[in-house]
Amino acid sequence: MELLKKKILDEGIALDKNILKVDSFLNHQVDVNLMMDISTEFYNYFKLKKINKIVTIESSGIAPAFATAYRFNVPLVILKKQQSSILSDELYETKVHSFTKNSDYMLTASKKFLNQGDNILLIDDFLANGEAVLGASRIFKEANCNLAGVGIVIEKSFQPGRDKIEKMGIDIYSLARISKLDKNVIEFK
Ligand code: 5GP
Repeated sequence: MELLKKKILDEGIALDKNILKVDSFLNHQVDVNLMMDISTEFYNYFKLKKINKIVTIESSGIAPAFATAYRFNVPLVILKKQQSSILSDELYETKVHSFTKNSDYMLTASKKFLNQGDNILLIDDFLANGEAVLGASRIFKEANCNLAGVGIVIEKSFQPGRDKIEKMGIDIYSLARISKLDKNVIEFK
């Protein structure tokens, strides 16, 4: 997506070989027009998949996921991150390792918002090691939902997330694929 790539080059800050900051349009301040354009890209790619629910992971996936849910005219479900396990009959939960924080968290969803047979499009802001997507997919499996596709705004293709998701046979579409990061260096695949 050329507009997104331009935005990343103009406003993204590569902190080091691993982390890209996009606080001015995605993670802190949000460019709402860009989010609507992003939603159209995801809609065009996944529109034949009979998606009935968009799911994201709090908090930075919410803006693009909200726009995409609006575009598909389906509900948005936000998976929650908890510090520790809060085992409950009402919740699905699974442990996920955070790439950016280098620590674990519990990903949870209320059972009432994921229903058997749901055909889900998972939207997230970044794909790095794929742990967030894999954690979400474990929850969908437990809930007997189908993960019909994964839409990623920014994929860091030099990290193993895409491989892991493709190996599971899941359709993944990333709007910008970064092949190299370094201090003040951003290169696309
Ligand atoms: P993964 O589970 O794929 O390793 O990491 C995905 C999550 O980590 C994303 O939801 C995102 O919040 C965060 N993340 C990973 N890499 C980056 C990055 O370079 N910049 C920012 N801002 N967040 C990242």
